Amino acid sequence: MKTCDRIRDGAVCWRLTPYDDAWCRKPDCPGHRTADRPANEAHRWMTVPARLRQPVPLDPDEAYDVRVTHTAIARFVAVHGGTEQAAEAELRSMLEDFLRDAAQGRRPNGYWLLVHKGYRVVLSPDCLTMVDYTTSHAERSWSQVKAGVTSRFAADAKRRWRARRTLALSPPRMPTRAELRADELPWQVPNVPAVEGCAADV
Ligand SMILES: [Zn+2]
Repeated sequence: MKTCDRIRDGAVCWRLTPYDDAWCRKPDCPGHRTADRPANEAHRWMTVPARLRQPVPLDPDEAYDVRVTHTAIARFVAVHGGTEQAAEAELRSMLEDFLRDAAQGRRPNGYWLLVHKGYRVVLSPDCLTMVDYTTSHAERSWSQVKAGVTSRFAADAKRRWRARRTLALSPPRMPTRAELRADELPWQVPNVPAVEGCAADV
């Protein structure tokens, strides 16, 4: 007997199977070799495997007592920008939400995982420190998702499409005299007084 090495619900299936290709073929096991990331649900791959599920022993309001490491803050800033102070504040408020709503579990090495809608935070084994932050959302932080901010990628694509359409539909227009003057301004040569003894190179 082999064990099924295919991906089921974001984790290795692991059930015994008589098949030589290590796929159990049970109805709930799709037989994928890698965790797929469908384009519109890129965060689906980020889950807490069922065998690790365990609630984090913290109350949501204890999120504000948790220390946040520089690594977690730096990761947040690298993805979403902003200041370190803002990142720390947002990570704490995110942890409060995640202690209430996220899938929670514990890795074999003792570290705690909280995963929710494409965001993942990792707590130290004693739950006193947030050691890591990861997201599959390149463009929005959790607070933006919560506030219903539209994805910048989608908005950008829409804007570009509108600009292209406007360009295609509008007839060419001669610039006005004022626009021409404004265009010239940066190119005007300042009045530099002639320097004594320097012959002008022509
Ligand atoms: Zn399977």
